[in-house]
Amino acid sequence: MRVILDTQNCQAYGNCMLTAPDVFDLDEEAGTAIILRERPPAELRAAVEEAVRSCPVQALTLED
Ligand code: SF4
Repeated sequence: MRVILDTQNCQAYGNCMLTAPDVFDLDEEAGTAIILRERPPAELRAAVEEAVRSCPVQALTLED
């Protein structure tokens, strides 16, 4: 599992960070999310999937 962030699209809403704080953080200066764990462990899959769904601008993609 690999998480991909489209920084051009990200609007720093922070939904991803609130949903999966072990995987996402916010860079407030840059105005984008940060991926803390690009390849999160399987036990975080449900939270990461929820974070991908929660992004209002579809800036997150999950690859297997
Ligand atoms: S939810 Fe989407 S727009 Fe918001 S910080 Fe995360 S990736 Fe960016």
